Amino acid sequence: MAADQRKLLAQLMGEALMSGPGTRAPEVPITDHKVCRSYLVGDCPHDLFTNTKQDFGPCPKIHNEGLKQEYLEASAEQKRRWNFEWDYLRDMEKYIRDCDRRIDGAQRRLEKTPEEIRQTQALMKQIDDLNRTIENGLLEVQIMGEEGMVNIAVAEFFKINQAKQIKAERERELKTLSDTGGPSGHQKLQVCDVCGAYLSRLDNDRRLADHFFGKMHLGYASMRKAHDQLAKELKNRPPPVMEADNGHSGGGGGYGRGGYAPRGGYRGRGRGFRGGW
Ligand SMILES: [Zn+2]
Ligand SMILES: [Zn+2]
Repeated sequence: MAADQRKLLAQLMGEALMSGPGTRAPEVPITDHKVCRSYLVGDCPHDLFTNTKQDFGPCPKIHNEGLKQEYLEASAEQKRRWNFEWDYLRDMEKYIRDCDRRIDGAQRRLEKTPEEIRQTQALMKQIDDLNRTIENGLLEVQIMGEEGMVNIAVAEFFKINQAKQIKAERERELKTLSDTGGPSGHQKLQVCDVCGAYLSRLDNDRRLADHFFGKMHLGYASMRKAHDQLAKELKNRPPPVMEADNGHSGGGGGYGRGGYAPRGGYRGRGRGFRGGW
């Protein structure tokens, strides 16, 4: 590309994009805060979900293969001094927390509304009452039959049959309510506890496989796995403090603000594909 063309493109797209995942020599030092640390250490969340429902758009920071190579080839000691893993961990944590919130919201939407709970309880009480009417009626018919009060027994028997019919009707209503309950109208739906998508119990194996091997699900699955693994690795390592060695150029500032406090919350959830429903 001619030099002035490149300059024009750089102006149009911004320097960050121009130094994007090319193999071109990096123009910024690896410690620069414009450099995406998630990309250096692992997988930037912006790259995991392109063209899915959870597309976060392009990463605003620099992804540069040369810098990633530099990171990969650096000594363990150097990596420890950079301490980029903490930034990566925090970045993933942000996306995982958002996803968990989405899962909780979706879960709540599948639950019954107060009105549906009221209707269910009312139906159950009616069925209970009818059962009692039928039982008592049958007992009376038996006694009347023994006493020879046939006419009254027949009338009572007629009432019992009526009660049985009403009961059957109420039971059908109750079943419909529990089958289609929830404002979404689908008790058959379930929320994927990895990516937050709705799954249907009626989906066939092929559709379920499409989901579990889909980009969005795999993206969250791998992010959760990378997060848990990294969190374990960093558990015994002190979180970064404000840059101590002043001789270091270009570093500093960004991480360690306020320290890093691991939060509980989503490690407790049993993640992953649960075998049965
Ligand atoms: Zn990035
Ligand atoms: Zn999923």
